[in-house]
Amino acid sequence: MSELIHTVADLTDLRNKDVLEAALARVIFELAEASRLSIWRVVNEGADIKLRERVSLPPRAEQGTEIPLRAARREWRDCYAGRRHISCPSDDGEQCRHVFPLCNEREVIGLLELLRPSRLASGQEQTLHGLLRVYRNHLGLLDYGDRDELTGLLNRRTFGTYFKQITAEKAVHAVIAVIDVDFFKRVNDQFGHPYGDEVLILLARLISRYFVGIEGVFRFGGEEFLLILPDMKQEQAWSLLDSFRLAVAQAAFPQVGRVTVSIGFTKIRVDDSCAAAFGRADEALYLAKHSGRNRVKCYEELVLEGYLAGNRHSGGDIELF
Ligand code: GH3
Ligand code: MG
Ligand code: MG
Repeated sequence: MSELIHTVADLTDLRNKDVLEAALARVIFELAEASRLSIWRVVNEGADIKLRERVSLPPRAEQGTEIPLRAARREWRDCYAGRRHISCPSDDGEQCRHVFPLCNEREVIGLLELLRPSRLASGQEQTLHGLLRVYRNHLGLLDYGDRDELTGLLNRRTFGTYFKQITAEKAVHAVIAVIDVDFFKRVNDQFGHPYGDEVLILLARLISRYFVGIEGVFRFGGEEFLLILPDMKQEQAWSLLDSFRLAVAQAAFPQVGRVTVSIGFTKIRVDDSCAAAFGRADEALYLAKHSGRNRVKCYEELVLEGYLAGNRHSGGDIELF
């Protein structure tokens, strides 16, 4: 018992989410006396939800395998959709497979799968559920200072750190988009501030649902949201963002009715600073506003079409934040 309490205390000492995930995997692997354990993170690429392998115990040579959720085994899909623990025999029928959802306060962020010779005893299962709750609560606390109070999205403060991570890992096809509510001041003036707040909350929910699995979703300022879409080409980003724009335009906001958004986006460059990337997306947004609102504009296209000079450099250490 005291060993378990120390293990839990050790987990809550950790502040880095990746290290925490790896430590959780090791603890569960040992506690469950598993023969194999893996953690899969829910990621979104385009409109497709995928599962990306993050941890595998014992370690495997190939890492980072990805599978579309729709093509994943049925137990995984059931676990994801139902947010519940599933157990079943392994493919060869010789072991037992357990799949647990990993959740934060809002959604399923991953799946933990373990194989062992027999079903978990109910005491073991309870202990694992307890550990997963500690993990979820600890993640919640780690998130607390990073989140915007009204919408629960990441706040502006965290954007710089996230941007550096993304550019260090895979800048090549990443895209940054700024979403701004059209004529939001009118919503406040006409219906009052609380209704304006509700529009922001509903819009944040719509963004989270639409871009499920994408970690880089921020409330950047009042009625302005920022997205970082990793691994995405320009055309793919355009169609995804435009279909989101349309979804907002078609949504009914209680009392307020229709609301539209304008969106500007740009590709993140290899030597980008977050201020420069944001600046380009914001220039595209400015043109989206001035060409009638309720539309998506891409910085690179606007430069090609001659609407923008395209002289914004990417590097530099100008800080906007
Ligand atoms: P545009 O289409 O050009 O973006 O027009 P706009 O009215 O949306 O833009 P503007 O910048 O003139 O007004 C933004 C408004 O957003 C003004 C501000 O009072 C409101 N706002 C900022 N933060 C909040 C908030 O947290 N809650 C509410 N209800 N309103 C907010
Ligand atoms: Mg606005
Ligand atoms: Mg604005």
